[in-house]
Amino acid sequence: MAAFSSLTDRLSNAFKHLKSKGKLSEADIDGTIREIRRALLDADVALEVVRSFTGRIRERALGTEVSEALNPAQQVVKIVYDELTGVLGQGVDRPLNFAKNPPTIIMLAGLQGAGKTTLAGKLGYWLKDAGHTPLLVAADLQRPNAVTQLQVVGERAGVPVYAPEKGVQSDGGDEVSAPGLTTGDPVKVARDSIALAKQKLYDTVIIDTAGRLGVDEVLMQQARDIRDAVQPDEILFVIDAMIGQDAVRTAKAFDEGVDFTGVVLSKLDGDARGGAALSVASVTGKPILFASTGEGLKDFEVFHPDRMASRILD
Ligand code: GDP
Repeated sequence: MAAFSSLTDRLSNAFKHLKSKGKLSEADIDGTIREIRRALLDADVALEVVRSFTGRIRERALGTEVSEALNPAQQVVKIVYDELTGVLGQGVDRPLNFAKNPPTIIMLAGLQGAGKTTLAGKLGYWLKDAGHTPLLVAADLQRPNAVTQLQVVGERAGVPVYAPEKGVQSDGGDEVSAPGLTTGDPVKVARDSIALAKQKLYDTVIIDTAGRLGVDEVLMQQARDIRDAVQPDEILFVIDAMIGQDAVRTAKAFDEGVDFTGVVLSKLDGDARGGAALSVASVTGKPILFASTGEGLKDFEVFHPDRMASRILD
C-alpha cells in the first residue's frame, strides 16, 4: 500500500476516532469522501466524474467491516483503488483488435498537438518489432507540416509512409509508389493506402488524421468520412494526459463524432497525475489501450490500469 501513502495519510486523520473494529458508519465515510474528492481533483479528474465516482465509493465503503490486517484508512483506499482499476481496466482484453483478413486498419483521431503523429511512429515501430509489416498513412492534410512530420517519424521508425504528393516514402529497400493519387483529399489518400497495403502485403495500416485546435465539426466530418471509407478495425483517440478538466468535453465530442474504439493517453512523462485517464474511461466506457511516455520511439507501452490507479492516488 506504499503507493497510496498520500491518500492513506489524509484518510487516517478522518478515521482517527475509529476503534480498531466494527463497521464503517455513514459519519465515518462522509469525512473521508471529502478527502477522496480532494485527492481526485488534485489528480485532475473532471468534477462530474469525481462526483459519480465518490458516490460509488461511498456506497461500497458504507458498512465495510474494519479488519485487523488493514486499518480503516487503508481499507477505504483499497476500495478506491479497486474502483479505479475497475474503471480504468474496463474492456482491456486486447492490446489491439487485429483484422482476420489483413490489413488491420488503425485510424488515429484527436486534437491537434495531442500526439497522433508521434504515436503513429511509435505504434509502427512497436508493430514492426512484433513482426508486423505496418504502413503509415499521412491523411492529415490540414496542417502544412503534418505530412513531412509523419515522413520524418516513419524514417526514424523504419516504417514506410504513404503520403499524398510523393507517394510512398521508402524506408530504404521497400520502394512503393502511389500512382494517380490526388493531393488534398484525405479520404482518397486513406482509401488508396488500403488498396496499396493489400497489393504490397502490408498487414497493418496506421492512418494519421487531421487534428483540430478545438472540437471542429468540419474536421470531425472529415474524420467520419475517412472512417466510413476504410472501416477501421480500431479508431484510437489520442488524448494529452495534461488536458485535465477539459478531458471530458473533448472525449465526449470524439466519442460522438467518430465513435472511437480505444484510447491512447499521451504525454504521461509530464507532471500530469493522470486524472484524464479516469475522466475519459468513465464518460466513454472505452478501454485505454496504450500510454505514450515521451518523444522517443520507444516511449510507449501497453496501458496498465493498476499503475495508473497508483499514480492518481499517489
Ligand atoms: P499531433 O498534432 O496530434 O499529431 O501531435 P504531435 O505528434 O505532433 O505531437 C505534438 C507535440 O507533442 C510534439 O512536439 C511531440 O514531440 C510531443 N509529444 C507527443 N507525444 C509525447 C509524449 O508522450 N510525451 C512528450 N513529452 N511529448 C510528446
